[in-house]
Amino acid sequence: MSPTAFSAIERAFGPEAIGAPVTVRGWVLRSRSSGGILFITLRDRTGIVQVTGRKDALGEVPFTAAEHVQNEGAIAVEGTVAEDRRAPGGREIRASRIVVIDAGAPYPIFQEQTEEFRLDKRHLVIRSQDHVATFRVKAELLRTLREFMDRESVLEVTPPILSGNAAEGGAEAFEIDYFGRPGYLSQTAQLYLEALLVPHERVYALTPSFRAEKMRTPRHLTEYLHLEGEFAWTDLDGLLSFIERMIEYVCRAIAERRPTELRQLGRAPEDLAAVRAPFERVPYAAAIEELQKKGFAIEWGADFGTAEERALTIERTAPIFLTRFPRELKAFYMLRTPGDPRTVEAADLLAPEGYGEIVGASCRETNVPDLLERLAQLGIDPAAYEWYLDLRRHGNIDHAGFGLGVERVLRWMLRREHIRDTTPFPRTPSRHTP
Ligand code: ATP
Ligand code: MG
Repeated sequence: MSPTAFSAIERAFGPEAIGAPVTVRGWVLRSRSSGGILFITLRDRTGIVQVTGRKDALGEVPFTAAEHVQNEGAIAVEGTVAEDRRAPGGREIRASRIVVIDAGAPYPIFQEQTEEFRLDKRHLVIRSQDHVATFRVKAELLRTLREFMDRESVLEVTPPILSGNAAEGGAEAFEIDYFGRPGYLSQTAQLYLEALLVPHERVYALTPSFRAEKMRTPRHLTEYLHLEGEFAWTDLDGLLSFIERMIEYVCRAIAERRPTELRQLGRAPEDLAAVRAPFERVPYAAAIEELQKKGFAIEWGADFGTAEERALTIERTAPIFLTRFPRELKAFYMLRTPGDPRTVEAADLLAPEGYGEIVGASCRETNVPDLLERLAQLGIDPAAYEWYLDLRRHGNIDHAGFGLGVERVLRWMLRREHIRDTTPFPRTPSRHTP
């Protein structure tokens, strides 16, 4: 069997496949042997097919060798495609030859194991069909996000991940030893995107962000993929309209391009295809009233946690923007609302069905004294931000930007209970291996 002679398993399901010879290779999902016939479910990157091997066709010794292949062992199969109503997809490959590539050790993964054990064995668990489907949708999501940016003439740039600045203040930044000086893993690329705004006007980055938050919620990772965009000459309305068009675009594209994976994971593609801009805009003050009516003991000035965001979105089927938050709740660089000094020109996009925040967005403060005042209030040494303030001294213009959590979006799209199931090797407060 020469490597070029192998065909993809999906070919066995093609219109002219029946009766044709095929040679395939892949991994054994499961197998059983009864009455001198071996039934193997074989998987490659293109699909799954049933292989049957009769002892009289294969010969005693090769049959016994194939019988001893464990789940997730690797084999190559020569045979003929036949119709079989009982097989998955209605076809099977009747083997004339089975070559064992790696018989494998007994596979340690079963259905009923604890979540902790499965996280220890994550390097194997990610072969499961749900993970396979999830990471295909994730790849499609990354592709469509980039595609949308490209169509909108937003330039992809490459900010640093290592920095001497903790962009949003120290407490939630991972500190590292940078040759004897403090360094930080990036929490956001935003400050660098603001620097790249001139001369490019519209920039984005798709990079990992790190948050040292010891929060055990189903929506926080300590490392996640962050899509951030920054736009010159833009106010809050312009920014929100960009974000809602982007979400509509990716929802529709994923529904069209990955319907099988969506259905497999329990999401009707029609749900995503129905997401349409514009999204409802709910001012923070109105959201507080809505929560009070729902029985929350919450007052103006309080931040929303998982419970509040869930209550606001559980009965909704479309995303909503929460807008104009109290200034104290938000980062130092957000612009004050003209005419309302208590709030900032910021918005969070909440996914429906209880999933909560997927995008954070704001207009950026352009006034140096206001920036210095907020840094002082937060106890941040302005010296570290001198380069950032410099941006306000040379071609200072209105601008705004957003940050989207890729795994947050995927958790909503795929209706995953926990965000860790949207990334192959999740990083959480209690785990950074394997
Ligand atoms: P939250 O209030 O949910 O912690 P945040 O206000 O800290 O979010 P931002 O700093 O605005 O979030 O970050 C922008 C986006 O990055 C968020 O809207 C979210 O989609 C994503 N994000 C933030 N923190 C995390 C995290 N720990 N894990 C995964 N995604 C995150
Ligand atoms: Mg946070």
